[in-house]
Amino acid sequence: MFFYNREKVQGREAKALSIILPTVGCMWRKCNMCSYFEDSPINSSIDIFSEFVNEFNNAYDIEIKKVKLFTSGSFLDPREISPNDANKIVSFLSDKGVCEVTLESRPEFIIEENLTELTKNNDIQIEVAVGIESANNRILKHSINKGFTFVDYISASEILKKFNIKNKAYLMIKPPYLNEKEAIYDAILSAKLIEDIADVISFNPMTVHKNTLVEYLWNKGEYSPPWGWSILKILKETSNLRPDIICHPVAFGRSRGPKNCKICNREIEKRILDFSLKNDPKILEYECECKKEWEEELLKL
Ligand code: SF4
Ligand SMILES: [Zn+2]
Repeated sequence: MFFYNREKVQGREAKALSIILPTVGCMWRKCNMCSYFEDSPINSSIDIFSEFVNEFNNAYDIEIKKVKLFTSGSFLDPREISPNDANKIVSFLSDKGVCEVTLESRPEFIIEENLTELTKNNDIQIEVAVGIESANNRILKHSINKGFTFVDYISASEILKKFNIKNKAYLMIKPPYLNEKEAIYDAILSAKLIEDIADVISFNPMTVHKNTLVEYLWNKGEYSPPWGWSILKILKETSNLRPDIICHPVAFGRSRGPKNCKICNREIEKRILDFSLKNDPKILEYECECKKEWEEELLKL
């Protein structure tokens, strides 16, 4: 499966191609908001490299400058993708003249052994995206059940730096058990704490996935995804940080996703995506009647 989007690639707006690889998916499978791995094939004997080449050839056009590879898990986990296939995929993209490739991984797989071959002889910028979610260990443990700590992310980041690999951090907006105000505070503080470590910070506003603890809380009326206003505030307050700040909300304006009101949902989503390309905080200036309701929610303890 593949899809396209536009994003900044080495300082310029360009076309990016995302390819979902059919690996067995994440081996951790315990984060409270995630069920991505439920879509992963059980069959682990799929030839990942051939699948990748087929998808790439179907999707490729000359405008594509960046390829993002998703596995619903960790590209660098050898149980998902063999080191041989991982190296072949990155070399293939390098040979095709793609400028940048993004892989996702949990920190425990960001080890020298997994990166040495990948970076050898390849003329392509590698970016590794880590779902750190928050820089707060209590939130990582009790709210998200992430299975790693902030220090694990720092250690992994040092290895990425050693290999000249770009560091992209996903920060979650509104993990479970945080109210709207706490969620805003956590996202801004986490971004500030990784300002000198990450090259790109991608904020991920929560979407309610099926068969998760978050869905259970949401069904009981004890959780709601963040407001669009909260996203605007977080982006505004982090826009001056050193890393590129981006946000590509999923299911914006739908019941399971982040939202404002019916009048402004589309405009707010458009501004968030536009900001992610241009990083101009003026784009985030907007007003709508529903802002009062959000402000009232922020007063709640
Ligand atoms: S969020 Fe990432 S690490 Fe957590 S279960 Fe999902 S795929 Fe695995
Ligand atoms: Zn509104």
